[in-house]
Amino acid sequence: MAKSRFEYVRTYEQDGMLLPNTYIVIRLDGRGFHRFADRYHFGKPNDKRALCLMNAAAKQVMGQIPDIAGAYGQSDEYSFVLRRECRLFDRREAKLVSTFASTFTAHYQFLWPQYFPQRVLDGNMLPTFDARAVLYPSLREVRDYFSWRQADCHINNLYNTAFWTLVLTGDLSQHDAEQALMGTNSGDKNELLFGRFGINYNNEDAMFRKGTMLVRDVGSSSESAESRDEPEPEPEPEQHEKSKRQVEREEKKRRKAEIVEMHVDIIGDEFWKNSARWIS
Ligand code: ATP
Ligand code: ATP
Ligand code: MG
Ligand code: MG
Ligand code: MG
Ligand code: MG
Ligand code: MG
Repeated sequence: MAKSRFEYVRTYEQDGMLLPNTYIVIRLDGRGFHRFADRYHFGKPNDKRALCLMNAAAKQVMGQIPDIAGAYGQSDEYSFVLRRECRLFDRREAKLVSTFASTFTAHYQFLWPQYFPQRVLDGNMLPTFDARAVLYPSLREVRDYFSWRQADCHINNLYNTAFWTLVLTGDLSQHDAEQALMGTNSGDKNELLFGRFGINYNNEDAMFRKGTMLVRDVGSSSESAESRDEPEPEPEPEQHEKSKRQVEREEKKRRKAEIVEMHVDIIGDEFWKNSARWIS
């Protein structure tokens, strides 16, 4: 296209390229979902359909963006980790975060009627998501990142389970339930649930307690390390550029790979033993 005299304004744009050879984690979070959950009558403390809808939207995003190695979701948030070698959009941050937020939002809205057939979306309160990108230099931090989100899920879910049990089954007011839980630790909350209501917290739905981990199971290829006992298999720096064919072959493999859904502990070593299968 012919250049106009206005073209110079383009030079004001910033590239914002994310550091190469680092893991990019993109976290999305629902905007104002406290109110959103009330408006659409989400069950308390956990609406399973809403969580399944989040998972379904995340799987669609993973299906469309093969550079995503894995993802973790809980409540109204989802975190996606990209392969270290990812070159999508030349790693431009604004392109990445805006594409993730809009692609996820589009799928969430498109899938909504399948999960909430009786609750037509109201144009004055549509679900939207913000997004941010964070860089991590090694698998150690990526692992700690996911542990951090799962610990958050656990703390919130235990509190919310105790709180809503006191309110809905124990007939306490929300104020009194809050008072009753003030200063309690997790042992106290487990004890309260079991002693007063016969609820064994460990028998609650694993999706509620652990959140949802999605991994793209590429299997162990010749390039990826076999599972080892060490949880931190640092890939060797690339000795040579991969050929175009090799890059394409690997991408095809990722596209075809199954996306596996899990509701398990991701803080301990066990989950990370096979991490080379999906994140190397
Ligand atoms: P912000 O826009 O700052 O993110 P927010 O209202 O979305 O504000 P969050 O800290 O993200 O606040 O909390 C999300 C809230 O959404 C939860 O506290 C809960 O009230 C509600 N929520 C999200 N998912 C579910 C679900 N599956 N079932 C019930 N409630 C949910
Ligand atoms: P990228 O993902 O890099 O943005 P792109 O294919 O979206 O790639 P753009 O430079 O954004 O490329 O150009 C958008 C293109 O979409 C236009 O060149 C045109 O072909 C098409 N397009 C957009 N809006 C319309 C429209 N209203 N009618 C017909 N074609 C359209
Ligand atoms: Mg928030
Ligand atoms: Mg939110
Ligand atoms: Mg949130
Ligand atoms: Mg375009
Ligand atoms: Mg355009």
